[in-house]
Amino acid sequence: MSKPLVAVVGRPNVGKSTFFNKVVGKRVSIVEDTPGVTRDRIYAEAEWSGIHFALIDTGGIEPESKDVILSQMREQAEAAMDTSDVILFMVDGKDGITASDREVAAMLMKTGKKIVLAVNKIDTAKIPDDFYDFYELGLGEPIPVSAANMLNLGDLLDRIIESFPQGAGQEEEDSVKIAMIGKPNVGKSSLINKLLGENRVIVSPIAGTTRDSIDTPFEKDGERYLLIDTAGIRRRSKVSENIEKFSVVRAVAAIERCDVCMLMIDAQDGITEQDKKIAGIAHDAGKGIVIVVNKWDLIDKETNTMNTFRKEIAKELAFMSYAPIVFISVLTGQRVDNVIKMARYVAENRAMRVPTGQLNNLVSDAMMMKQPPSDKGRRLKIYYVTQVGVKPPLFSFKVNSRSLMHFSYARYMENKIREAFGFEGTSIKFVFREKG
Ligand code: GDP
Ligand code: GDP
Repeated sequence: MSKPLVAVVGRPNVGKSTFFNKVVGKRVSIVEDTPGVTRDRIYAEAEWSGIHFALIDTGGIEPESKDVILSQMREQAEAAMDTSDVILFMVDGKDGITASDREVAAMLMKTGKKIVLAVNKIDTAKIPDDFYDFYELGLGEPIPVSAANMLNLGDLLDRIIESFPQGAGQEEEDSVKIAMIGKPNVGKSSLINKLLGENRVIVSPIAGTTRDSIDTPFEKDGERYLLIDTAGIRRRSKVSENIEKFSVVRAVAAIERCDVCMLMIDAQDGITEQDKKIAGIAHDAGKGIVIVVNKWDLIDKETNTMNTFRKEIAKELAFMSYAPIVFISVLTGQRVDNVIKMARYVAENRAMRVPTGQLNNLVSDAMMMKQPPSDKGRRLKIYYVTQVGVKPPLFSFKVNSRSLMHFSYARYMENKIREAFGFEGTSIKFVFREKG
């Protein structure tokens, strides 16, 4: 069953980011490219009482005039409605109930979503009298919390997980989770429709996801897949300008939740700045990547067209040289089958574990073939390597001195590991620990 999504909504300064950071303990960053929306946190995974869920911060509001805030709140509410199962509405207990709280409450109620009302900045055990005014919002029992002091957050989280559909968030699925990403008009929805049209849909929609943002499961060759957050893309005709602004949020949320990103490129356009930006987000998130060059039917075929395109990708997306490339035409159906096979292959590589013995043999051979770097008479020694993680694969190197491990030597080791074990389609990460 898929992870429930909780959108955190509220006026600026009520304490949303404080709450977010206390609950998830880390920040998720993306490069800002949407004018007027300043964001440094968007999506993070959390767990409470064994239930896994994700928090989406729809914030990023710059306080200007009251009107601007309200219109931005409306956008937040729309985005929250679009992407979440439960809305956490946070208000400021120090300010007391405000007119905009009332307006936002009314907006949220129209979404038909489960809403949990948290009154933040109640920093002492004594509940102030005006706390009870928040009942007037008509959103049920308000929960007093202090995000900064971590007071009563447990009760709040209890309430949030009680609002999830039965069974949601309890277990990880065995299916490969795929996100289609790419700039508008590259053919994402066409590909999704093609894949879903040809493959049996098992259940739709899954309980625990929302009406609007449907994770669609399907089966192919006996294997299970889940297309993530694709509904927003399929509904594109209805999408207003407001919602368009949040397509970045949605893309990031989809990337965070997937195993493999299908990065779609338009064969006619080549690699654009927007492609690079989207690719960078997927790479930084450590996800599996398949580069899908679509609309291949529109390209005049000369002998070396595909090679030329590969070279352009190698140059423009040099940071993801590990990603396999498929050239397809959704229109004619050419090679569309390969897309799913590739996704499965990349997901398996991303979850692969290399036996420690083989790994250490490989590394000592590699050190013999190319001497490790030295500095002021001291030479790098690698004592031991183990793979300590998967998704993405993470390798720990026990060394005599971290400062002797040059970037170029790490790159050399990465190439050797890839030559021996593959790992196609996934980034691999290294940590260096000094012996001691
Ligand atoms: P956001 O704009 O809603 O994300 O709000 P922030 O998390 O940035 O918080 C705004 C301000 O309120 C900051 O100065 C926080 O330190 C403060 N704040 C957050 N939570 C609490 C709380 O529980 N009690 C008090 N007294 N201040 C808080
Ligand atoms: P999205 O915005 O990425 O979801 O893109 P759409 O799936 O809506 O496709 C945008 C346009 O490209 C539509 O007019 C599609 O019919 C067209 N299209 C999609 N795939 C192909 C293809 O393989 N070849 C050609 N010639 N057109 C395509």
